[in-house]
Amino acid sequence: MQFIDLKAQYARIETEVKARMEAVLSHGQFIMGPEVGELEERLATFVGVRHCVGVSSGTDALLAAIMALEIGRGDEVITTPFTFIATGEMIALLGARPVFVDIDPVTYNIDPAKLEDAITGRTRAIMPVSLYGQCADMDAIDAVARRHHLPVIEDAAQSFGASYRGRRSCGLSRIGCSSFFPAKPLGAYGDAGACFTDDDDLAKALREIRNHGQDRRYHHPRLGLNGRLDTIQAAVLLAKLDIFPGEVEARSRLGARYTQLLNARGAVSTNGGDAPVLTPFVHPDNLSVFAQYTIQVADRDAVALKLSELGVPSAVHYPIPLNDQPVFHVGLPGMETPVSKRIADRVISLPMHPYLTEEMQLQVVDAVAEATSL
Ligand SMILES: *Cc1c(COP(=O)(O)O)cnc(C)c1O
Repeated sequence: MQFIDLKAQYARIETEVKARMEAVLSHGQFIMGPEVGELEERLATFVGVRHCVGVSSGTDALLAAIMALEIGRGDEVITTPFTFIATGEMIALLGARPVFVDIDPVTYNIDPAKLEDAITGRTRAIMPVSLYGQCADMDAIDAVARRHHLPVIEDAAQSFGASYRGRRSCGLSRIGCSSFFPAKPLGAYGDAGACFTDDDDLAKALREIRNHGQDRRYHHPRLGLNGRLDTIQAAVLLAKLDIFPGEVEARSRLGARYTQLLNARGAVSTNGGDAPVLTPFVHPDNLSVFAQYTIQVADRDAVALKLSELGVPSAVHYPIPLNDQPVFHVGLPGMETPVSKRIADRVISLPMHPYLTEEMQLQVVDAVAEATSL
C-alpha cells in the first residue's frame, strides 16, 4: 500500500498530461509560457478571486506574500506553531519575528480566541494555516484582524480545493498562498505554488516580486525573487485541474469514511471526548480535502512501527511545534503552546489519496485497531 498513490492518478490522466507537456516542448516557452496565464485564469475562477499569481513553490508563495505586504525587520507576524517549517521560516527569513499562538485542539488550526493577546504595536499580519486540508476559522480570525487593521495571509498549502462557509480556501483573506508540491491535494510533477488575491495592487506587486521585482524588462522598482511557476508545471496542473473537482469530492468522502469506520470500532472524534484513537473532526462550516488523514494515539512511535509491520505506511505531521525547533528557540515565558506540544506527540497520518478503495481503508482500519487498544 502507498501513503499517497500518484501512479493511480497518472494512469487516469496520462494522455492529457502527455499532450499538455508535448505542447510545451513544441512551443519552447519554458519560462512564462502561455500555459502559466491559462492556469492562473482557471485557478482564479476556481477559487473565486480576481487574481492568481503562479510561483515556483508554496514556500515562495508565502515569501512573496510577506514581501508584497512590505513586512520585514522589526515586524511581528502571528502564526501557528503546529505547521510545516515553511510558514514560520519565511517570516523569519525576511527578518520579521514569528509569534506563535496555540491551536484549537479540535481542528488543530490557530485558536482565534488567543489572537488578541498576541497582538502588539509591531504586529503586521496574521498568518493562519489551514492544516490537513481544513480551513482555519477565517471569519473569526478576520474579525480580530479587522479590529486591528491587520492583513491576513492564509497558508493554504494543504487546503487547495477546500471550502469554508461555501467559499473556497485561498479566497478567504487578503492573500491566500497554496502549494502544488506533488503530494498536495492539487500536485504538479515538481515544485509549484500560487498566490491569490482580490487586491489589484497586491497582485501587481506579487507579479513583480516573482520575477526579480521587474515591472518591465530590466527595470526593477523593488527587490524580488526568481520565483516563477515553470510552464511545464502549469501544463501538468492544467491536465490535473480537469479531474480535480471529482478528486476533492472523493477526498472528502474517503476522509468521512475513515472516520465512520474508526468510530464504529470505538474511536471518537476530537470534539467528542477521550478514546485510545481520536479521529479528525470536520467543522460543519468546512469541506476538508484531507491533505492528510491524521489521528491521535497515545504511543505514537509504537503504533507507527506496528502499522509498518502490518504493511500500512504512515507519517507524522508534525513531530515538533515550530517554537520548539532549534532554529527558532523562542521559548519565551508567556509564549508556551501546550496544546500544540501535546498533539505533536500524538498525531499520526494514515494513507490518503483519492484512489483509496474501501478494501484498502478496511485494511488500514484493521491495522490501526490492532496497533492500538481499540
Ligand atoms: C507544503 C507546505 C508548505 C510549503 O510548500 P512547498 O511547495 O513545499 O514549498 C508551506 N506550508 C504548509 C502548511 C505546507 O504543508
